[in-house]
Amino acid sequence: MVFINHERIHLRQQIELLVIPFYVLYCVEFIVRLVQYRNWRNAYLAISFEKEAYFNEKNLDYIESRSFYGFKDYF
Ligand SMILES: [Zn+2]
Repeated sequence: MVFINHERIHLRQQIELLVIPFYVLYCVEFIVRLVQYRNWRNAYLAISFEKEAYFNEKNLDYIESRSFYGFKDYF
């Protein structure tokens, strides 16, 4: 259920960014974090979209209470 909620949060992020820009931003931020951390796993975990999803995945009501562009608080 936590895994499903994690993916639901990503789905909401994608809808807000009209899908394609989500993947562009995701990749750009991953590259920036990779330069910053020089470690694949840490770079992945530092992506704002992932931080929002991991931080809130255990809160099954998060999607309902989440603000628009909620990932911006995790930059
Ligand atoms: Zn994720």
